[in-house]
Amino acid sequence: MARIVVLGAGLGGLGTALLLARDRHEVIVVERDPAAPPPPEDTDTAWNGWQRRGVNQFRLPHFMLPRWWQQVREELPELGAALRAAGARPVNLLEELPVSRRGPMRPGDERFATVTARRPVLEAVMSAVAEAAGVTIRRGVAVTGLTTGGRSPAPRVTGVLTAGGAAIPADLVVDCTGRRSALGAWLAATGARAPAEERSDSGFVYHCRHFRSGTGGSPVLLANLLQHYDSLSAITLPGDNDTWSVVLATASRDKALRGLREPDRWHAAVARYPLLAHWADGEAISGVDVMAGIEDRHRRLVVDGDPVATGVVEVGDSWACTNPSVGRGASMALIQGRLLRDLLRETDPADHDKLARRFDEVSTQVVEPLYRATLWNDRHRLAELAADAAGTAYRTDDPRWPISKALFAASLTDPELARGYTAVAAFIATPDEVLGAPGAVDRVVALGRDAPQYPLPGPGRDELLAAIA
Ligand SMILES: Cc1cc2nc3c(=O)[nH]c(=O)nc-3n(C[C@H](O)[C@H](O)[C@H](O)COP(=O)(O)OP(=O)(O)OC[C@H]3O[C@@H](n4cnc5c(N)ncnc54)[C@H](O)[C@@H]3O)c2cc1C
Repeated sequence: MARIVVLGAGLGGLGTALLLARDRHEVIVVERDPAAPPPPEDTDTAWNGWQRRGVNQFRLPHFMLPRWWQQVREELPELGAALRAAGARPVNLLEELPVSRRGPMRPGDERFATVTARRPVLEAVMSAVAEAAGVTIRRGVAVTGLTTGGRSPAPRVTGVLTAGGAAIPADLVVDCTGRRSALGAWLAATGARAPAEERSDSGFVYHCRHFRSGTGGSPVLLANLLQHYDSLSAITLPGDNDTWSVVLATASRDKALRGLREPDRWHAAVARYPLLAHWADGEAISGVDVMAGIEDRHRRLVVDGDPVATGVVEVGDSWACTNPSVGRGASMALIQGRLLRDLLRETDPADHDKLARRFDEVSTQVVEPLYRATLWNDRHRLAELAADAAGTAYRTDDPRWPISKALFAASLTDPELARGYTAVAAFIATPDEVLGAPGAVDRVVALGRDAPQYPLPGPGRDELLAAIA
């Protein structure tokens, strides 16, 4: 069994650490933020008191998709049980839709189930479960660089350096330091070639608010979690312990909507959307939190067929991250953590060159298409928002975009397609799989082709601007 040092105790780092510890590796997680989480059942302290400067989105809305939950059930059942004990909320995304859209529940619909919680609660639970599984978490230890032992021909990473000057040796270093990972700079300092990296501003800005019910329960989901309207998208996310959150996502270039940062205007806007308005009907437990400047970024440590370094891999946001509207980050990190765990079952980390190549290969085959699919969706949605702001209709030569819009419109009246659309949103099917079902494309075209651009009830741009003026 290997000694594995995981950098970062975020969602990706903790999930990967847990998977590896269950395979009896010695796992040490090194986390820069000093504060330890409160006990998992103390959810109020996790929400109000736990300081996590290392994660910008720590108090922003998170929802764990059915794909994430499926993996937790299969691989980490103790995490599932601990989440439920801490008040995490079970949700079936299909069952929550109006029965007029989905028809009666059917066998197989349990695949739309998940359990979710606010991010601090999730992390507090994951930390406790990881420690119970034998993971050592060292908080308040910032990694500042890498130690290496020779070249073959790329530098072989043998551990990490910390701010205090101490080195932590490892058979394998797993970088889970998130969106702002400094791995590129650390590698450069070892003399390694530069990783292959692409990055750009995702172009979205999020205006988020969390709520709690004074009377128990949480609002009824009258539509899918992510809803697209003229000039903005809305996201409604159930949370743990009778909490929930609402997000208004706009294009960062759309200056006319910047007023959404102010609570009064934010509420005035939400009130205009019939499927959304009741979601603001609770005790606010946050301000309107704004997050902008979110990057899409992807980095590979194998360039021109050869690793730039061995003994180190990246998992989660450090490897790839996107605009979070579709809420796939934690699911993707767990998928990648599982790939690493599986690879270590057949490859000794001492065979470091092979491990570096194989991990890049499986990540590229399995996870990169998921990243590309999110980028594809975001690029079109951003262009559509730009067209909304310009008062024009968005046209594209890419036939998959109008088909994906038609799939949503058709899902409003066809229970089979309601399942298909929700399966894509739940991250348990791809659009190609849904549209590949016999007769699906014909029904999508027949029911969705002539649908309005935004089939859900909501204000047009002028009315929205007037509401927040
Ligand atoms: C606004 C927003 C909303 C989101 N909503 C969702 C959602 O609904 N569902 C979903 O699945 N995903 C969501 N995501 C994505 C999700 O937050 C990330 O995919 C996830 O946090 C990635 O986990 P990670 O472990 O890779 O990185 P992180 O969770 O960012 O963790 C990185 C950790 O590394 C630590 N660290 C950094 N540098 C060092 C260092 N030098 N030494 C030691 N430690 C270090 C940090 O302190 C931090 O704890 C959202 C993201 C954003 C921005």
